[in-house]
Amino acid sequence: AQNGSVRKSRPNILVTGTPGTGKTTTSSALAEATQLRHIIVGDLVKEKNLHDGWDDQLECYLINEDLVCDELEDLMEEGGNIVDYHGCDFFPERWFDQVVVLQTDNTVLYDRLSRRGYTGSKLSNNIECEIFQVLLQEAKESYPEDIVVALKSDTIEDITRNVASLTDWVGSWHPAT
Ligand code: ADP
Ligand code: MN
Repeated sequence: AQNGSVRKSRPNILVTGTPGTGKTTTSSALAEATQLRHIIVGDLVKEKNLHDGWDDQLECYLINEDLVCDELEDLMEEGGNIVDYHGCDFFPERWFDQVVVLQTDNTVLYDRLSRRGYTGSKLSNNIECEIFQVLLQEAKESYPEDIVVALKSDTIEDITRNVASLTDWVGSWHPAT
């Protein structure tokens, strides 16, 4: 391998989508089925303080993208990761072999986010994000089109089917020669 790096033997998958579309549920099941490492970026940011404080307006941590990328670089080079985050434009393009964008019907998503306690502009901003397919656009602008896949995540059956097809994909993945 070039630059002294070892070619990875397992793929890296990015699972992205609007909050509430099922990233963590899907990624956990996929990690269980494949033994890939599940990295919940939001949790890592909190645990390792990879942020620049809390944003009162947006009601979330202001993620420090450089710190997050530095933190993940070695693991990503090693391969075998599922990265779970509601954003995708700041990760290096070379990290991922597959980029999954989960999508949910907006009335279904509204109920999920309400149940999670989202209200007001936090709720409506996320519903708008889903209606305008912001994450799918972001993924298409940030990664080669042939590795970006949009998957419907409205029901438990959708999760089962998505996990099964991604598990098959992982099983048949080989490093590029
Ligand atoms: P995210 O990580 O994208 O914010 P979660 O995986 O935490 O989303 O899911 C949010 C909530 O919605 C959870 O209660 C989860 O059980 C539910 N949920 C997510 N995806 C689905 C789905 N496809 N069908 C039914 N419930 C779902
Ligand atoms: Mn999540």
